Amino acid sequence: DQQLSRRVQSIKPSPTLAVTTRAAELRAAGKDIIGLGAGEPDFDTPDHIKEAAIKAIHDGKTKYTAVDGTPELKQAVIDKFARDNSFNYEPGQILVSCGGKQSFFNLSLALLNPGDEVVIPAPYWVSYPDMVTIAEGVPVIVETTQATRFKMSADQLESAITDKTRLVVINSPSNPTGTAYSADELKALAEVLLKHPDVMVATDDMYEHILWPGQSFVNILNVCPELYDRTIVLNGVSKAYSMTGWRIGYAGGPKTLIASMKKIQSQSTSNPCSIAQAAAVAALAGPQECVATMVQAFKQRHDHVVERLNRLPGVEAIKADGTFYSFPDFSGVIAAKGYKSDLDLAEALLEAGVAMVPGSAFGAEGHMRLSFATSLEALDKALDRLEIAVA
Ligand code: PLP
Repeated sequence: DQQLSRRVQSIKPSPTLAVTTRAAELRAAGKDIIGLGAGEPDFDTPDHIKEAAIKAIHDGKTKYTAVDGTPELKQAVIDKFARDNSFNYEPGQILVSCGGKQSFFNLSLALLNPGDEVVIPAPYWVSYPDMVTIAEGVPVIVETTQATRFKMSADQLESAITDKTRLVVINSPSNPTGTAYSADELKALAEVLLKHPDVMVATDDMYEHILWPGQSFVNILNVCPELYDRTIVLNGVSKAYSMTGWRIGYAGGPKTLIASMKKIQSQSTSNPCSIAQAAAVAALAGPQECVATMVQAFKQRHDHVVERLNRLPGVEAIKADGTFYSFPDFSGVIAAKGYKSDLDLAEALLEAGVAMVPGSAFGAEGHMRLSFATSLEALDKALDRLEIAVA
């Protein structure tokens, strides 16, 4: 539409939300659809977190807070970073936002000038390239494959960096692939980054806690503390505590950058919801057993789903390290069935009663993202349908 900004015409609506909407439409029309598109845990928010929110309402914590978060929540974030990650931050280095999504949005607007390049390994979380584009930055996509467990090598990073590169994005464990970088892999990336002192690093640790038992989370700062002054750590409560609707994300990083992100936020949303902030304090500072319970269920479903996916002709799935996603390669099915792309395949599978997000939404054509944030029964039913659809 000629009447609208070039900015809005340069981006697309979130494809993951679009699949969920499309499935809901078909369901409303009477079709039986199993939704494996969701990017959120199927568990309820734990009771102690809900209680903290109810108490906040009764206590009258229903007014504006500081733009960057209440002192209590900022302290809980500081304590969390110290406890889980061995990072030291002071209050001026923390910004609480309306979800991790707003954290990255603030970052893009605060950091990028038109033409600045942002290195984003694919498959990527759908929103990175579009948020960079809104800020008039240029996404530089680094393609990875199943053979490297969808991880960017040091050589790939080196070749992607130019004198316009402003930021490199690392998301581990990854949405959509579920794989995580090892300490050695991060060290190799860090060595490249040390050669380019003007490049900043955004590490999106949203799935930090959703790692299989026996694996420990590692951030690039743990293997290369020298990057501390140019790394922004993004995290949130959405996935770990099943709090997607509460909209609380947080960032820790260099003071000036955080202050600039806060300035952007002060002219858009102001503070995140005061009640959700009180709930997030309970999530971060309260008992953590609820996380392990969820992870156990995700692991069990993951093992079952990956095993069944690999039995389908033309489908190849690797074992993930965590998250609640599998990102199988369906290119064998696409070729065998003569589909033009994974978009056609997604449409055909929807007809067969299963909603999944096509890989091209994440910059990885030929794959499908399957979310196992749903019951084993629903997953089995969906896999039965897939078996028929790909046969
Ligand atoms: N980062 C990643 C990798 C994600 O997958 C998501 C959600 O899907 C987010 C950030 C943002 O989550 P939220 O805005 O709910 O905190």
